[in-house]
Amino acid sequence: MRLSKMHVKTLREAPSEAVLPSHILLLRTGMIRKLASGIYGYMHMGYRSIRKIEQIVREEMDAIGGQEILMSALQPAELWHDSGRWFDYGPELMRLKDRKDSEFCLGPTHEEVFTDIMRTDVTSHKQLPMYLYQIQTKYRDEIRPRFGLMRGREFIMKDAYSFDVDEAGLDKSYNEMYGAYEKIFTRCGLEFRAVEADNGAIGGSASHEFTALSEYGESEIAYCTECDMAATVESAACRDDAPSDEEMLPMEKVYTPGTKTIEDVAEFLGLDQRQTVKALLFETYNEQGQVSGYVAAFVRGDRGCNMTKLVNALGIPEHAIAFADEEAMAEKTGCVGGFTGPVGLHDCTIVVDSELVGMRNLCAGACETDHHIKNMNYGRDYEGDIVTDIKELKEGDACPICGAPVKHTRGIEVGQVFKLGTKYSESMGAYYKDDHMEKQLIVMGCYGVGVSRTMQAVVEQHHDDKGIIWPVSVAPYEVIITQVKMNDDVQNEVAERIYSELMDAGIEVLLDDRRERAGVKFNDADLLGIPVRITVGRDAADGKVEYKLRREEDNSLIPVEQAIKDAVELIRAER
Ligand code: ATP
Ligand code: MG
Repeated sequence: MRLSKMHVKTLREAPSEAVLPSHILLLRTGMIRKLASGIYGYMHMGYRSIRKIEQIVREEMDAIGGQEILMSALQPAELWHDSGRWFDYGPELMRLKDRKDSEFCLGPTHEEVFTDIMRTDVTSHKQLPMYLYQIQTKYRDEIRPRFGLMRGREFIMKDAYSFDVDEAGLDKSYNEMYGAYEKIFTRCGLEFRAVEADNGAIGGSASHEFTALSEYGESEIAYCTECDMAATVESAACRDDAPSDEEMLPMEKVYTPGTKTIEDVAEFLGLDQRQTVKALLFETYNEQGQVSGYVAAFVRGDRGCNMTKLVNALGIPEHAIAFADEEAMAEKTGCVGGFTGPVGLHDCTIVVDSELVGMRNLCAGACETDHHIKNMNYGRDYEGDIVTDIKELKEGDACPICGAPVKHTRGIEVGQVFKLGTKYSESMGAYYKDDHMEKQLIVMGCYGVGVSRTMQAVVEQHHDDKGIIWPVSVAPYEVIITQVKMNDDVQNEVAERIYSELMDAGIEVLLDDRRERAGVKFNDADLLGIPVRITVGRDAADGKVEYKLRREEDNSLIPVEQAIKDAVELIRAER
C-alpha cells in the first residue's frame, strides 16, 4: 500500500479525554475513530490489526475443533425471558422495540442464542461434544464507557460455547479452551496471567480471567508470591482470622457521642479496629425497580465489604442492590445511620461475615443515636440470616491457600472462560438423549475474547514515547519503506524495487511515497509502529539502505538485497 493513497489522519495531539497511552496512540495514529461515547470505528490500519487478532483467535479455535458460525446481534426478548436474564442482566442490556412493539435486545453475549440452537437441534449424545464460536459485534450499555476500546458500548468479541454430556466432558473442553487462550494471547504478544475469577451475570461454577498486565488495567488481581494463588480481587477468597478463645463478657451499652465512623469509635473507646464491627446498609430492588427489601452486612471494623461476594451470597444481580436511603430504612428496620449494629435490627436480611462468628466481645452500633454496644458475641447476642465470606482480600492479608501475605497488581481482562454447567440448559430446556434413550441436560461452558480490547491491550504493552511498537503478529503492516526524496530517480527505482520484491515474498508493505519532509516521515513511521523500517536515502546510489527495527534503537546501513532478505526472514519467523 502506498501511503500517498491511503486515508490516514494522524493527529499531533489526542483529544484531552484520552488518558491511557494506548487510547491516545490509537487516536493519534488515526487507527480508530470515535463516533459517540464508547462507540468507535476502525480505520484501515486499525482494522487490519483487528483482523489479524481475529485470525489468530480463529486459528486457535479451529485447532481444537471449533466450528465458526455467525448469529445475529439482534435477539428476541423471549429467549432472555426463558433464561431469566431479561431482568438479571440489568441496565447494561441494550433493549429496543420493533414497530409491532415486540421487544428485542442487542446481544451483549450469546448464551441464550447458542443454547437455543442446542435445544432445537440436538437429540442424541452422539452429536456431543461440540464447540461453536463466532466473532461478532457486541453491545453493552456500560455505565462508564471509557479508555477507548477498553470499555466500549459496542465492541468485537469472540464468543465460544462448549456442549458436553457431563461434567467430565466440560472439564476437558474447559482445559482445551484454556490452552487455546494461552496460545492466542501469547501469539498476540501479550504478557498475561490467567487468574481465578467470579462468574458474574454469566453464572456457573468456575471461571478464569486472562489478564494482560498493565498499571492502567481495570482488573485488580490478588496473588501470592509463595504459592500459585492468583485471583481477581472480586472473587478471591479471604481467610478468617483465627477464632478468639476469650471469655464472653456481659453485653454493655455505652454512650459514644458523635462517633459515626469506625476510627472515631475505636479511638473514643480505646479499642483496636479489629474489635469493632462495621455495618453496611443496602436496599434491594424488584423487577419494577421498586425497593423490595433491606440488607445489613457486617464485617470486622478494619475490613472492607466485597460487593461481588455480597450479591453472590444474596443470589441477586449487582444492579438489584444499592446503598440504602438510611432514613427510609430506619423506619422499617430500626437501623440508625452510623450507629447500626446487628442487635436491635429487624425486618432486614442480616449478612454476617464468617470471621465475626469466632470473634469475642466485639463493639458494634447499638441502633440508637450516639450509642454502641460492647462485648457483643455471635450466637449469644446476634445471628446472621446468611453467614459467609463477604470481605475484601487486601494487600498484605493472608493468602487463602498458604497464609503468606498477598500482593495486588492490575491488568486488563482480555478474555474469560466459564464453566456454566447446566444453568442455561436447565432454564431453557436443552437436552440430549443418552444411550438408554433417557433425557439428560447438556453441560455447557462459554469462552470470550475481547478482540477490540485485546488490540488496545497490545498497544498498551507495546509503545514508547514516539508511538506504537507493534508485534509482527498483529501489526497492520509489517514493513514500511521510507523514501527520503521523492524527486530522486535512484531513490524511486530502489524504493519501488524493494516494495515489489517484498510484496512478491508475501510481506505486507507500506511505501511512504508522500511528498513530505524526511523528518515528518520518520516521526510518522515511529508513531504508526510498523515493525521494520527500510529507509531509502542518499546511499541508495551505492546500493545501500538503512534497516531498522521499530523495537530497537540501532539501525544499520546494508545492501538492498540484504535488507530485503533480513526483513523477509524476520517477518516469517515472527508472524
Ligand atoms: P468487564 O469485567 O471488563 O466488564 P466482563 O467480565 O463483563 O468484562 P465478559 O462477559 O467476560 O466481560 O466478556 C468477554 C470479554 O469481552 C472480556 O474478557 C473482555 O475482554 C471483553 N469485553 C467485555 N466488555 C467489554 C467492553 N465493554 N468493551 C470492550 N471489551 C469488552
Ligand atoms: Mg469477564
